Amino acid sequence: MKLIIPFVSSYLTNLEKKKWVTVFKKKIKGNTIVQFEKLKPQDYKKVKVAIVANPNPKHLLKLQNLRWVQSIWVGIEDLVRNLRNTKIKIVKLKDPEMQRTMAEAVLAWVLYLHRKMYIYKSYQDKKIWKQEDYIEPRNLSVGVLGLGELGGSAAKVLIRQGYKVFGWSRNLKKISGLKSFSGNNGLKKILKVSDIVIILLPLTNKTYQFLNFKTLSNLKKGSMIINFGRGRIIKSYDLLKLLRSKHIKHAVLDVFEKEPLPKDHPFWSSKNITILPHISALTNFETASDVVKKNILVFKKSGKIPESVNVKIGY
Ligand code: NAP
Repeated sequence: MKLIIPFVSSYLTNLEKKKWVTVFKKKIKGNTIVQFEKLKPQDYKKVKVAIVANPNPKHLLKLQNLRWVQSIWVGIEDLVRNLRNTKIKIVKLKDPEMQRTMAEAVLAWVLYLHRKMYIYKSYQDKKIWKQEDYIEPRNLSVGVLGLGELGGSAAKVLIRQGYKVFGWSRNLKKISGLKSFSGNNGLKKILKVSDIVIILLPLTNKTYQFLNFKTLSNLKKGSMIINFGRGRIIKSYDLLKLLRSKHIKHAVLDVFEKEPLPKDHPFWSSKNITILPHISALTNFETASDVVKKNILVFKKSGKIPESVNVKIGY
């Protein structure tokens, strides 16, 4: 039986939506893939699965027999908030290519901090010829907060690169070469030992602004931070305070409370912040659509919904 699968997004432009629909039409043949705006109201009740990118929840609720949504993104905090009181299951994107890209970004920006690229750039701007000390990776501690699909892969790349790697997650992990922590005490410990801290946590009720003045004060003086998770995990003004006092030496930020980062935000003019426009790991059209295709074809054949998000814990 043919599936009718709407592509629902209130975030993407019309052109972007068309591009995704074209890709899915090519990949998931023998089914009807349609932009939600073009779906006929008499077909609403026939929809069991939708492909989504930050959809308007009102659109999803019109699909009274919808059983699950497949996100083309990894971050699903808005879906969790909007669908937590419904029976609709949320399937986030799990794409090995995304893990590879994120691990590559983590290594790149750890090297940027470790090899002091930001310092040499500032020297060049002032025509200063000065050699800084070199620290071997085995003498540099890197703490990864969040050891899931993305954090776990990134941690393994850092271990292979020779860094001393620590990790923090809800459940303790067994990863060769990594010391694993969990809980509030574990958080204190990992922040105390790390020279560089990488945030790859999801945004949930528990992680919202949990990195604030009090928790971040556990960092050792002169440590550095990379946030690739979500902006709201860190309390912005507390981070600024710690950067201004040089307790935190440098921050690389790819995600923000509000995106694009407003032009008048103090982060822009802070010398010890490197700002990235949410690019550490973008969804790859080809590989993501292959993952989605596989999930939908399994559902079509067997009725099996892929592993979905636990909305109680929020990820
Ligand atoms: P995931 O597979 O769901 O893993 C989440 C990790 O965080 C797990 O290790 C989990 O612990 C841990 N965790 C969750 N809540 C915790 C808590 N309260 N205390 C301690 N640990 C906690 O997620 P993922 O696929 O790796 O993605 C992580 C996040 O990256 C996404 O949610 C998204 O926000 C962000 N992201 C950013 C970009 C970008 O371009 N900047 C791109 C993609 C994704 P357990 O392992 O014990 O469950």
